[in-house]
Amino acid sequence: MSTVGVVSLGCSKNRVDSERILGCFADAGFTITQKPEEAEVLLVNTCGFITPAKEESINTTLEMAQYKESGRCRLLVMTGCLSQRYRTELETEMPEVDLFWGVHEPEQLVRRVCTMLGIPADCAMRGRRILTTPGYSAYLRIADGCDNRCTYCAIPLIRGGRKSVHMESLLTEARSLAENGVKELTLIAQDTSAYGTELYGKPMLAELLRALCQIDGFQWIRVLYAYPNTVTEELIDTMLSNDKIVKYIDMPIQHIAPRLLKDMNRHGTREHIEHMVDYIRKASDEFILRTTVMLGFPGESEGEFSQLADFLQAHPFDRVGAFTFSPEDGTPAALMEGQLEEEVKQRRLDAIMKAQQHTSLLLNQKRIGRVENVLVEQVSGGIAYGRSYAEAPDVDGMIAVSGVKDAGLLPGMFIKAKLTHADAYDLKGEMLQ
Ligand code: SF4
Repeated sequence: MSTVGVVSLGCSKNRVDSERILGCFADAGFTITQKPEEAEVLLVNTCGFITPAKEESINTTLEMAQYKESGRCRLLVMTGCLSQRYRTELETEMPEVDLFWGVHEPEQLVRRVCTMLGIPADCAMRGRRILTTPGYSAYLRIADGCDNRCTYCAIPLIRGGRKSVHMESLLTEARSLAENGVKELTLIAQDTSAYGTELYGKPMLAELLRALCQIDGFQWIRVLYAYPNTVTEELIDTMLSNDKIVKYIDMPIQHIAPRLLKDMNRHGTREHIEHMVDYIRKASDEFILRTTVMLGFPGESEGEFSQLADFLQAHPFDRVGAFTFSPEDGTPAALMEGQLEEEVKQRRLDAIMKAQQHTSLLLNQKRIGRVENVLVEQVSGGIAYGRSYAEAPDVDGMIAVSGVKDAGLLPGMFIKAKLTHADAYDLKGEMLQ
């Protein structure tokens, strides 16, 4: 029985790819190990989004290559976005790697590995996933690729245009996840709110959410990576209409200055973003808003930077992720005039995150006194650490709940807790008996 170890880098969409690859290896009879020194096959599923991610992917692969000497590694495989994008160059630059594979066809990948190891490759594969998230929480990738073509983004160059998964297949996958104990289902794609447009002629995220709510077992259904111009009142009303759909939306805006939205080729206007933020805030004071912004896009003036900073103060988001522009090969923005100094980009990012820390603190403090359902993720030292609907997995803070001694709590359980203290990112609470 051969052993395989998979290192998954990058975003949650890549994580789903890794889970599918693991499912194929398991179907092919491999034993999955978390210990790289024990793996005969080591696979690094890489990220190729921006320069820091590319560097991490290369360094991690070189680290794994050492196990060819010090461990049982016979085959080192690189998959994912970096390999998809730069396979030809990498084949020359990284002789340590025995096989480069892209982002598609995990079954063919595993058959190739079997052939390379000289073991039977004709096994039946069931397209299942081996979850790498805790058993009570899972991602559901509803589409792959993107049609938006933001001028700074390489993802369409790597994953191509949007390919939505048929709703029946998603519901079948979701039912299987629910039957296997998943309680929190997080919907992901490069652009979730455009889901189904190319398949059904119009965005179908609201319909998908309504159908997922019919499946027993899910307590939380969450939406990440929504794109502003397809975030509509109908979608928000659907999210408000069913308790299983958490009142949380991640809607990256990237910027707000009209000239920059145009140069970024961001569809949708400042007016629409403002309208939807106001609509959500009026619809529910419990709705959690997350966004992502980019600082230092070519030509961004101090005035345009201030427009964004002022907008985030006037229309506060509970969570803001920010990163600096990185000129990516093959993207139009990399060739644009007005490339800014790294120091300027970093200064603007620091200013936005400093202001946001204060905003997040104020918004978190408004939750003190509320009673929340907390999904327990860890219990130690008489404290249960978990998340409420307001904290998405892997990206948001935690709630530390006291008063749980001898309660026999386990990860995956839901408890009721009264929130007693708030920081900018984390909160504290007391368990209600
Ligand atoms: S929406 Fe824009 S930034 Fe996001 S994946 Fe698509 S092209 Fe890239």
